[in-house]
Amino acid sequence: MPLDPQNEAFPEGGVLLSKSGRCEVLSVTEKRLAGELLLWEKRLLARDLIGAIGPVIEKILREAGLSARLRKIVSVRITRGVREYGSCNIPRANEAECRLAFSGHLFFAGNAAALIDVVAHELLHACLPSREGHGEKFHRGMALLNEALGLHIEVYSEKTAIRQSEALYRYKVVCAACGNQFYYLRAGAVVKHPSRYRCAKCGKNAFKVCRISTAGNEKNGT
Ligand SMILES: [Zn+2]
Ligand SMILES: [Zn+2]
Repeated sequence: MPLDPQNEAFPEGGVLLSKSGRCEVLSVTEKRLAGELLLWEKRLLARDLIGAIGPVIEKILREAGLSARLRKIVSVRITRGVREYGSCNIPRANEAECRLAFSGHLFFAGNAAALIDVVAHELLHACLPSREGHGEKFHRGMALLNEALGLHIEVYSEKTAIRQSEALYRYKVVCAACGNQFYYLRAGAVVKHPSRYRCAKCGKNAFKVCRISTAGNEKNGT
């Protein structure tokens, strides 16, 4: 399937302010999320989203007297993290700049709305004072943006924002009878004592535990 997702450009201006503009941003994001994205494609998509929604977020917060402006974003990084969806790092030495990072696991087909919310969340941090965190101004800004732009920014994003990929888990439990599979990050009861459990799908008692070693784990020697 020939895919040239990086050519699909976002509309410009305060596009999120109208319902049709929001649909367009969502649909472009969704198209670009189709297929497995390379690291640079994820970074480009994050940058393009920032370009499309940053100015309107800045404008709304400025008009509400919550922020003078959006900091200069000096870098956008894609991380391997699964616990943190995004981050906004403001160096102490230069309050006017910030570095944004997003988990690479946010970039999968069907996740456009959640990805946009995470980007908007970090852009809100990028507009507010560095020590604000998830304080009162953050909550006010979040409510304003959600209302004006039809977003669903949250303080802590839903678990569904990140794909449950095999690469993130340490243990795989497979039912030898029907092939039903489960993934676990830690060695819990099912992983330690598979014989005590029955498969919910086929009712058989035939679980096998496999330890998954990802490239990252092997490198770290764990
Ligand atoms: Zn936050
Ligand atoms: Zn089974």
